[in-house]
Amino acid sequence: MHITRRQLMATGTALLAASALPRRGWSQTILTLGDAELITLSDGNLELPADFIFGPMPQDELGPLLSGFGIDRGAALTPPCNVTLLRRGDTLALFDAGSGLTFQPGVGRLPEALEAAGIDPFDITHVIFTHGHPDHLWGVLDDFDEPFFPDAEHMMGAVEFDYWMDDGTVASIGAERAAFAVGAQRRLEVIADRMTRIADGDEVLPGVTAALTPGHTPGHLAFAVDGAAMILGDAIGNDHVAFARPQWISGSDQDPAMAAQTRLALFDRITADDMAVVGFHCGHGGIGRVERLSEGFAFRPAT
Ligand SMILES: [Zn+2]
Repeated sequence: MHITRRQLMATGTALLAASALPRRGWSQTILTLGDAELITLSDGNLELPADFIFGPMPQDELGPLLSGFGIDRGAALTPPCNVTLLRRGDTLALFDAGSGLTFQPGVGRLPEALEAAGIDPFDITHVIFTHGHPDHLWGVLDDFDEPFFPDAEHMMGAVEFDYWMDDGTVASIGAERAAFAVGAQRRLEVIADRMTRIADGDEVLPGVTAALTPGHTPGHLAFAVDGAAMILGDAIGNDHVAFARPQWISGSDQDPAMAAQTRLALFDRITADDMAVVGFHCGHGGIGRVERLSEGFAFRPAT
């Protein structure tokens, strides 16, 4: 068993809080594709100001749309974070690594979710990143700043890796995300010697192909599994507005116009090929299907 300070802290916190708090839960949703299983594990929930996503959208049309989803425009958003695990034969590949404990209090739960699933961090064979944002990358190190998945090959898009390793990114990314850049570079430096740089179209594992899906970040990758499921990362970043109005620009995307083009192209591919989707910030465990509506699309969760 790979014990880390993070797990010791979590255990201690749980003991202290046991009488006051309900038992902490995590989602674990499974999609079976032939001899492969896609399993989502909850890293917890972020808390974001609503304007972080909704700020640049047409507010007169947004209001009724959000009401239909039961979302209060004035309240903070608490999107779930679903890390995907692919199990096939001896391969146990994680797509993204969660937040770790230093980003926000509501996330960093992946180690507990893995333990509940009976998976030791040493058993993970690959950690494959969609992009370098904190909720996807920062959990890659333990609390001694050592790799949390010591025996895993790590993979990230070359464009994405170079962007976050570039000393100029901290200055160019904007004040709102400067801490993202500092945090990404610090972590990527630790794992650089075990990182394989990948590119659009690469078959990163048998049956798993990288798809460049830029805009949310410059080198964001989604991953198609056996042509039957698409691991979206943040290319489609929620199960409400991003589906209903994919053409709207979102404040959560670093290049919002490019991200909107990427969403539209992804929806075309997913619906043409009738693929399942796994959304990092989609509800109900994140696994579902896409339905084309008269205007926009809808997320239909598998559970
Ligand atoms: Zn992101």
